[in-house]
Amino acid sequence: MLQGIAASPGVAIGRAFLFRHEELDLPRYTVDKLAVDDEIGRFQSALEETRRELEEIQRRSQQEMPNGHAEIFQAHLLFLEDAMFVDEVTRRIRSTKANAEFVVTEVSNELTERLSQIDNEYVSGRAIDVHDVVKRVIHNLLGKERMDLSSLESEVIVIAHDLSPSDTALMNKTYVLGFATDVGSKTSHTAIMARALEIPAVVGLGNITSRVKTGDLVIIDGNHGKVLINPDETVVQDYLAEQRKFQEFERSLNILKELPAVTLDNHYITLAGNIEIPEEVSSVLEHGAKGIGLYRTEYLYIRKKEMPSEDEQYESYRDAAETVAPDPVIIRTLDLGGDKFASYLEFSDDVDSLMGLRGIRLCLHRQDIFMSQLRAILRASIYSNLKVMFPMISSIEEFRLAKAVLEQAKLDLTSENIPFDPDLEVGVMIEVPSAVMTADILAKEADFFSIGTNDLIQYALAVHRVNEEIAYLYEPLHPGVLRLIQQTVDAAHNAGIWIGMCGEMAGDPVMVPILLGMGLDELSMSPAAVPEVKKLIRSLSIEDAREMKRQAFSLPTAWEIENYVYGEAMKRFPELLTWLSPRSQSKLIGL
Ligand code: PEP
Ligand code: MG
Repeated sequence: MLQGIAASPGVAIGRAFLFRHEELDLPRYTVDKLAVDDEIGRFQSALEETRRELEEIQRRSQQEMPNGHAEIFQAHLLFLEDAMFVDEVTRRIRSTKANAEFVVTEVSNELTERLSQIDNEYVSGRAIDVHDVVKRVIHNLLGKERMDLSSLESEVIVIAHDLSPSDTALMNKTYVLGFATDVGSKTSHTAIMARALEIPAVVGLGNITSRVKTGDLVIIDGNHGKVLINPDETVVQDYLAEQRKFQEFERSLNILKELPAVTLDNHYITLAGNIEIPEEVSSVLEHGAKGIGLYRTEYLYIRKKEMPSEDEQYESYRDAAETVAPDPVIIRTLDLGGDKFASYLEFSDDVDSLMGLRGIRLCLHRQDIFMSQLRAILRASIYSNLKVMFPMISSIEEFRLAKAVLEQAKLDLTSENIPFDPDLEVGVMIEVPSAVMTADILAKEADFFSIGTNDLIQYALAVHRVNEEIAYLYEPLHPGVLRLIQQTVDAAHNAGIWIGMCGEMAGDPVMVPILLGMGLDELSMSPAAVPEVKKLIRSLSIEDAREMKRQAFSLPTAWEIENYVYGEAMKRFPELLTWLSPRSQSKLIGL
């Protein structure tokens, strides 16, 4: 049994599939002049094999990804016939007698280099397609199977060192029963995606990839952060029972779906859903959330491996707005960087640095990308209650610059006679400590705030949100964090604007009473968390919540605050205890 970090609740039992990103060793040799035709034949067979693979993936994607997402594979197939590639490789094998793998790589590198120099977003975006197809061709030349979670064909538990957001977004949910990784934490984007897809997951296990082989029987206990490897039959039976009980518990909360999130004395708080991919909109409705408090638009960019067009974005936003109407949808503008990046957007290495060119900084740097997203949001704003917010704002100047680009987008649309909502609300995500310290200034020019605790905590406590070795220091209930939240809430209310929270903290039922006590107006969370949070809110009065906040603020350590709020939550919602990961235990791992 391995103990890790409970990333997504539920129990999964199945056979392991060890997923690894392989680094290919590329051979380089000269072929005999009599073997040149054979070498060209080898290249053609690899093209043929690649075509078969792509046709199969295209067929499957058409079923699973509506909205034309599968079109990308059509472009990949066309590339396999492109004379600039096929004829050039053939000619060069003949003239240089170098092996096919080497020539394919050389020709494709030249092609991508040329494509990325063209000053046209669409054309330069094709470089990633070339890269993808060529990787397949080389795999086939080397006779290696390519690992890809979208092409699984049976139910498995995925075991990996790490999963990138795009690995997770491309997972075939029908076949991935659960997953476990060596690295990661509760607020890593992989964990957030697992909760969104409602796939049980445990992360931060250290070395599970060296303990498990493909085919081993594995149990993932996503409630308590445990993974069991090759358990005996009685343990399997116990966990099957546990799985049923958990499903019953979740069903029992379903009765709350139509009830409002009000305290015993009728204080109302909005509970909204966070979504990553457009398909999750239905989950927002299913779990009784009132609208979308955070639409993480990065996945439109990461998942497709190419830049989405303005029209595609417009359709996604419009669909979301129409589906949850009359409740609102808050679109968060592109927040690439940190652990979310699209490899085809070749900026500097700095994009994946947490303190680098990420979030709003990247958008202000690449206003072509930003402008197309803002136009799409504005165009969709006529359909329902849409709002926009900017991530990673660190000063009023940055907020003003972002709003200036929005105003330019409005002017452009007006001159093109394209309608939009002129009163679209514009908010600031508060997730950088300097934004908290200047919240009074920002509040004067914003329509609302939403606190992004995932980043705010990591920047305030200097604790990387994805590093499992220091996960015990990542304390949402650190007295410093609570004071930052309270300061932001007060600044918003003093300026007469509303304030929400969309970081993972907002969806933790144990923490919700003090968030209520601090005065937040809205909490936005992974949709599956809404019923538990609602149940807790409906079990206390606003006075109880304020008193709990006062008590929490009188305690000096995160540890004491956590014990206190945990105890209070358990008094009101004892069933929850069974399903929560033991907090003290996850802390002790780090100590
Ligand atoms: C946050 O930082 O809390 C947040 C909601 O944004 P993300 O997790 O996408 O960085
Ligand atoms: Mg953030």
